[in-house]
Amino acid sequence: MRRLRNVKIVATLGPASNDYATIRALFEAGADVFRLNMSHGSHAEITERHAMIRQVERDLERPIAILADLQGPKLRVGVFAEGEVELEEGAGFRLDLDEAPGDARRVHLPHPEIFAALEVGATLLVNDGKVRLKVRECGADFAECEVAVGGTISNRKGVNVPDVLLPLAALSEKDREDLEHVCALGVDWLALSFVQRAADVEEARELVQGRAAIMSKIEKPAGVKAFNEILDASDGIMVARGDLGVELPVQNVPPIQKRLVRRCRAVAKPVIVATQMLESMIESPVPTRAEVSDVATAIYEGADAVMLSAESAAGSYPVEAVTTMHNVALEVEIDPTYREVVEASRGGTKTSVADAIVSAAREIAETTDIKVICCFTHSGTTAALVARERPAVPIIALTPLVGTARRLALHWGMHCVITGEVDRFKMAVVNAARAARTGGFATEDEQIVVTAGVPFNVPGTTNILRVAPCAERLIYKSDPE
Ligand code: ATP
Ligand code: MG
Ligand code: MG
Repeated sequence: MRRLRNVKIVATLGPASNDYATIRALFEAGADVFRLNMSHGSHAEITERHAMIRQVERDLERPIAILADLQGPKLRVGVFAEGEVELEEGAGFRLDLDEAPGDARRVHLPHPEIFAALEVGATLLVNDGKVRLKVRECGADFAECEVAVGGTISNRKGVNVPDVLLPLAALSEKDREDLEHVCALGVDWLALSFVQRAADVEEARELVQGRAAIMSKIEKPAGVKAFNEILDASDGIMVARGDLGVELPVQNVPPIQKRLVRRCRAVAKPVIVATQMLESMIESPVPTRAEVSDVATAIYEGADAVMLSAESAAGSYPVEAVTTMHNVALEVEIDPTYREVVEASRGGTKTSVADAIVSAAREIAETTDIKVICCFTHSGTTAALVARERPAVPIIALTPLVGTARRLALHWGMHCVITGEVDRFKMAVVNAARAARTGGFATEDEQIVVTAGVPFNVPGTTNILRVAPCAERLIYKSDPE
């Protein structure tokens, strides 16, 4: 199975996509990465979802990336007896430390530290800022509020307190337990929420011990400010627009998105644009024009991936939402303007042999009629450099490491293939040509470009670029080694 687009699609799983058939349908419609949000769902549920994704992977024989998203120091309300309540403007609403399920009058807010820091007049924003509460009276274990902007609140919706500085640790006790659980299960990416400084990433990296790549979610003003250091410390970035648009004026989000996407590409680290991309599709089978335009914009900007949250986790049209993103991507990527933008923004510091080889591979493929760039990679670094080039021809990443193949599934343009360990360059070319033929990338009478490192099995040694025939008998004929 081969995708005919480069940008990747991340789909969050939840109650609307909690069975094998739906997960498989999401993958077939175009989801490349599945996100497990640790804020929702027990360890047992996460384990079950994880197993279903791996089953789809086995059945369809394509590497799939799993992204586990840690809740981080996010404040959330508890649960409601009815699952949700409607708050009317002007009504009173109480937050307290009582664990009993909530109703239209009150709900649990399991964070004593907020009550300690709150002051009369402070604003609480619930559900990505949709509902606004103003504090009228507060104490050590309650806040009596007035509903300033009404709306629906359901179980475990997030709460932001932009006016108050809260003393928050980067990883809560729950995050540490969740981290251990998902690393033991085997996830490919671990997303950290509300990253504020590089030290937050380093703290998580200590615990992860190389078991997953680390993605920092940028969703706080401090995270935006310290972005360069955070990017250095991370393996990837998520522009988490939900909380970002609540913590900062919402009009600040688009310029931040543009800047972050560009910086990530410059250093060859993948970046996801997330939140509300097709929000109306939670309830409607068709998106708004503005949403289609938002997805398209992220793709034009050069994002590695676009993401669905509630649309695929809790909406009525999860598969349609993936299909919509897929179709938008197809149209954007054949637009000549897209190529112009991608080419104009090719940059970043290039100092290594690998940099030079991958950029030569792109030039050779684009100036001749070579159909595919095949790159051998261990850690995934060389493949990421090829993706940074944003070549006009497809990329096949060949690796003996299943973890690398899965992780790379998030990167722009990457078609990942697991190969046996190869020890001679000729075998590498034979494998690459096979992957190109079976994937439908090139035919017997076409040529491919292959990049690799010799000696094999030493990470970080890309030093060969070869233009090779795709037909096996011709490889044997033309290659002495
Ligand atoms: P985050 O800040 O991590 O994005 P979120 O609460 O916004 O957290 P999303 O994963 O973005 O969560 O999903 C959006 C909404 O979809 C959630 O607020 C919730 O209502 C619903 N949802 C998502 N996943 C689940 C799940 N596994 N179980 C129940 N509801 C879910
Ligand atoms: Mg968030
Ligand atoms: Mg969200």
